[in-house]
Amino acid sequence: MAKKTVRDIDVRGKRVLVRVDFNVPIKDGAITDDRRIREALPTIEYLLGEGARVILVSHLGRPKAPFAPEFSLAPVRARLEELLGRPVKLAPDVVGPEVERMAEELRPGEVLLLENVRYYPEETKNDPDFAARLARLADVYVNDAFGTAHRAHASTEGVARLLPSVSGFLLAREVEVLRHVLEQPEHPFVAILGGAKIADKIGVIENLLKRVDALLVGGGIANTFLVARGYEVGQSLYEPEGVEVARRLLHEAEARGVDLLLPVDAVVATEISETAETQVVPVDAVPADGRIGDIGPRTRELYRERLQGARTIVWNGPMGVFELPPFAEGTIAVARAVAESGAYSVVGGGDSLAAVKLAGVEDKVSHLSTGGGATLEFLEGKELPGIAVLPDA
Ligand code: ADP
Ligand code: MG
Repeated sequence: MAKKTVRDIDVRGKRVLVRVDFNVPIKDGAITDDRRIREALPTIEYLLGEGARVILVSHLGRPKAPFAPEFSLAPVRARLEELLGRPVKLAPDVVGPEVERMAEELRPGEVLLLENVRYYPEETKNDPDFAARLARLADVYVNDAFGTAHRAHASTEGVARLLPSVSGFLLAREVEVLRHVLEQPEHPFVAILGGAKIADKIGVIENLLKRVDALLVGGGIANTFLVARGYEVGQSLYEPEGVEVARRLLHEAEARGVDLLLPVDAVVATEISETAETQVVPVDAVPADGRIGDIGPRTRELYRERLQGARTIVWNGPMGVFELPPFAEGTIAVARAVAESGAYSVVGGGDSLAAVKLAGVEDKVSHLSTGGGATLEFLEGKELPGIAVLPDA
């Protein structure tokens, strides 16, 4: 079930290369949200406490040119130093003789941050020579960057083949929770799927249909399901090429005895905007010029009731265009219902996490999965290369 972690390996006096996700938002040279740096602290502090010599490697954005200064990890170094309360050195490069020397000279309890690993195109190509140059810096490799674990890059996959490797606490926790809900969920298990495009979610829906007792559908993807059921959705966002898929998923749900719930009413407007004049209509009466922006109040209540009886909940994708107040209520209601259900709840996806925050129920969700694309691929049942390469406990 679980992954080997830093606790399962001797790191004292060793040079430990830790892949972290320091891909933080930076504006005019200042970090606007340091959450990702703070989340990496438990693993880093544990290693320092054990007398390891810590070498950190991360990407930041997508630099087009080598060593483009706006992609330097210099601002991250400064913030990390504040958070750790001890000096952090920034290497002038990612690999090479000078960085090797700096890594060699590092003493137990000291921290060296490498420059942006994506300064090298070899990183995303998972170039074996580049992975070997990274491996030369350390004795042990730790991956704590769950958000990039779905990519087979040199710093997430290649290097793990070359050094004794384990998971950091963040990554291990994500794997444990996501494996748990997929493999041994307590029933009733209810999934909530929303968001803009069905194309992004087919794999997740297919995999969850094999495991859940009910699937509640909202957001733009519900429109495509409604069309598949024969409803007219006016000017709403839907994917004509997704209708066939939706039809197949509806059949699959029926064959498996899964309750697949679609909205019974919707909040519609002629324009999806901040100042839209909305009305609530049953789904069989969407006006020809109407656009569905949210699930309606009867659907909110229906979904809330289903969530109340659940023991396990997985949620990805907002129920409506929650960024705009006229269409936010459905998503907020579902977030509250998840929080109040008492079920073991896991929420994943960038926008879904933002919705949980908007509803103010962050503390009541059992696990907020921060992986974005990695979380979705995990929920699809895919093997993530950065995780597959790390040993199970
Ligand atoms: P996540 O990031 O949690 O995986 P997605 O990115 O799949 O979620 O979906 C979020 C987006 O879906 C939001 O930008 C939201 O505005 C949009 N969306 C939700 N419902 C609708 C709808 N009915 N029409 C258009 N867009 C929608
Ligand atoms: Mg999104």
